[in-house]
Amino acid sequence: MEHRIERVLLSEEQIQKRIGELAQQINEDYKGKSIVMIGILRGAVMFFTDLAKKLTVPVKMDFMAVSSYAGGMRTSGVVRLVHDLAENIEGKDVLIVEDIVDSGLTLSYLVNNLTLRKPNSLKICCLLDKPYQRTRDVHTDYVGFEIANEFVIGYGLDYKDYYRNLPYVGVLKVDE
Ligand code: IMP
Repeated sequence: MEHRIERVLLSEEQIQKRIGELAQQINEDYKGKSIVMIGILRGAVMFFTDLAKKLTVPVKMDFMAVSSYAGGMRTSGVVRLVHDLAENIEGKDVLIVEDIVDSGLTLSYLVNNLTLRKPNSLKICCLLDKPYQRTRDVHTDYVGFEIANEFVIGYGLDYKDYYRNLPYVGVLKVDE
């Protein structure tokens, strides 16, 4: 396949260091509690597992899959639930682990959906935040990096389902 990475935006080292900091904060905030981590498939997989390995508070893991991108670079504007949680989260302290927030559509859908299930608390941890095209007001509790409005790939993030396995985050080369 054609090489389509313009440049590395966040190196593997930068990402791992920041995840260590986020984990430390989460460990302090949830001291004495346990967390249900909800990974949002498929983009959050790398971040989810690396973060989980650095948490010292007891955690359960569950997953949801939603779809709003039809495989390209733009959101379709409609979020679809593709895979639901395995467990009931009523009364639990829930941490949504997401790859990136852009328009906020996906997260606002998830927050509305999960709030209806009456968790004791619901917080959001996302690796990347692109705040410039927000159309939904979403509150994020833990953010790895704020980035510019560029389409990024790697470390779970895809373009047409490729590049998720890169250990770093790169900027996709856009053809003129
Ligand atoms: P939102 O609903 O517009 O906030 O977009 C969130 C979802 O869109 C993320 O979970 C990603 O799957 C996808 N997404 C947004 N920006 C990017 C990007 O730069 N690269 C890859 N996927 C992205």
